[in-house]
Amino acid sequence: MRAIAPGARTFSAVMLAALLTPVLPRLSHPSPYGGLAAQEDDREEQEAAEAAELARRDSLRRIFDPAGAFEPLDLPEPGEFRDAAGSPGEAYWQQRADYHIRAALVDDRIEGTERITYTNNSPDSLTSLWVQLDQNLFRETSYGALRAEELDGEVRHGGFFKDGGFVISGVRADFEGEATVPEYRTEDTMMEILLGEPLPPGGSRVEVEIDFAFEIPETGGDRMGQLDIRGGIIYQLAQWYPRVFTYDDVNGWNQSPFLGQGEWYLEYGDFDVELTVPRDFVVVATGELLNPEEVLTPMQRERLAEARLSEETVHIITPDEAGEDHTRPPGDAPLTWRFRAENVRDFAWAASDRFVWDAAGWEDVLIMSAYPEESIGGPASSGWERSTEYLRHSVQYYSEQWLRYPYPVAINVAGLALGMEYPMIVFCSWRSRGAFLFSVTDHEIGHTWFPMIVGSDERRYAWMDEGFNTFINYYSGIEFAGGEPILGQLMSPTQIATDTRTPSHAVYTPADSIPEAEIGVLAYNKPAAVLILLREEVLGPEVFDEGFREYIRRWAYKHPQPADFIRTMEDVSGQDLDWFFRGWIYEDAILDQAIASVTRLGDTTRVVFENRGGIPMPLEARILYQGGDEQRFDVPVDAWRVDGTYVLEVLGGFVRNVQIDPDGVMPDVNRGNNVWGRGIVGRRPPR
Ligand SMILES: [Zn+2]
Repeated sequence: MRAIAPGARTFSAVMLAALLTPVLPRLSHPSPYGGLAAQEDDREEQEAAEAAELARRDSLRRIFDPAGAFEPLDLPEPGEFRDAAGSPGEAYWQQRADYHIRAALVDDRIEGTERITYTNNSPDSLTSLWVQLDQNLFRETSYGALRAEELDGEVRHGGFFKDGGFVISGVRADFEGEATVPEYRTEDTMMEILLGEPLPPGGSRVEVEIDFAFEIPETGGDRMGQLDIRGGIIYQLAQWYPRVFTYDDVNGWNQSPFLGQGEWYLEYGDFDVELTVPRDFVVVATGELLNPEEVLTPMQRERLAEARLSEETVHIITPDEAGEDHTRPPGDAPLTWRFRAENVRDFAWAASDRFVWDAAGWEDVLIMSAYPEESIGGPASSGWERSTEYLRHSVQYYSEQWLRYPYPVAINVAGLALGMEYPMIVFCSWRSRGAFLFSVTDHEIGHTWFPMIVGSDERRYAWMDEGFNTFINYYSGIEFAGGEPILGQLMSPTQIATDTRTPSHAVYTPADSIPEAEIGVLAYNKPAAVLILLREEVLGPEVFDEGFREYIRRWAYKHPQPADFIRTMEDVSGQDLDWFFRGWIYEDAILDQAIASVTRLGDTTRVVFENRGGIPMPLEARILYQGGDEQRFDVPVDAWRVDGTYVLEVLGGFVRNVQIDPDGVMPDVNRGNNVWGRGIVGRRPPR
């Protein structure tokens, strides 16, 4: 999902204090018996301790230890499940969860029954099935609500209310034709269904049926919910049915409470879903609509057929028609919309009695948008009437650049959520306009590739989801705008240098342990920016793209771990990149290359470069000579393997100016020590 807006990251003292809390010993507590002066002393002491801790951490980030920086990363041992080259191993396995769901929308409530067919492909016997009850986050007493309280309620993923949460009214299991009523336990957003008899390894199956209901939250953690619009309502439904947790070869069950910020890690399967809604509602969902003749008018079916073949956007329901009786098949009874989705890890949907609906085609993909009339733009800025065009660009661009879009539909729905991704369907804010609407649409549908196709663990490794996606978005934006990155300033070297100047957390930090104010940087912009560096400055686009495509190919519809990605990039490029991932991802190191001295000895000039940050990077330098000649040096990262000093001696000529990173592509935290001499005074490095 999208957590960032330009300028969203402000580093106040309060945030800094919050950030440091886990690492700082509490030196003193204000005593209820102490006077104001004592409290004042305490505060000063606390502030001094925090400043000292900051300085200590900052100095650590600056220490360059060549042996440590180039040491092999301590990755998990490869084996039969995941091999040393980064591929799924010979004995790789993963579980499978197929769903058949029947649900009804009644007023502001969902009532449903699901049948999960769970296949145990693991080599282990399973005694229970762990299921996620994400709606329970919205209970007033959920772990997420308590956490929000601790953070003074200022969380984006709130929406807690009195009647929030799932009501589970029945659980049944069926194993080898024997029906049972299993015991189950629930803890916050987690449910453990005890299978009674262990589910044997090697492909055995159990079917579990769950009856569930919940009140639709108004603001469902900015990921789902309802929005009142002129003359109607839009429901965005996600995290709406009990979903099994992933069981894998690394952690076994990956069960953990849903706290709001950390996203998911889900199994693949097929979905058959029947959604019964009031007749005046139009439904869009993950999957192919199986019964258009029952739920659409002949004219709408005709328009859809036309849209499939059209590059231009075609209305299925025009703004004038939205909400009109004649846009629905005649009758009064609720209608059941039937969808089927294959090989997906989730299912989401939206329904409204006032949708404007349009569509276009790209190859055999039907690309659609559903939005309220008030999302249409005006003279100042275009709006949702361009959504389908944006979506079509993104589907085509990512298909051609990385892996072909594998699903029959791609849908953008306007509603309350700022931006959320689900297979084949994304939710973006009804308020988004212009470049921001492009950018958020492009981002959410970009999630098709990460994590919908490449199914990594978003809760542990947000960077492999948001970071990888933001990275591909950067180039998609350039392609769309014909050369200029859209919102690219967030990933510019200068911005990343600013973001890394103050110690925070490593990119590797699990999503729920990142302070909300840091999420934009640590999960999105920094990992994206360092992948841009890896592509442009370390490996070169051709080699990088070959590696990245291979990673997608190897792990499509599977569950990669960070080591699988790193090993694949090293395998394909033939280069050791452990130093790169250690400094930028696993640690919170900083980049500071410097010119230590320039000395003339006879007809030789000796330039001493130093690596003063904790991370090594290739050194790019330019020397300008008297008379105007210039010379460029591209020094591989290996220059720093022995120590933090690199000496360059140039013969002849009179050196007028030396500059590190003359193109300004590196997130160097101190550019002041990058230049020596005269000649380009007043000219700042680009960007
Ligand atoms: Zn995202």
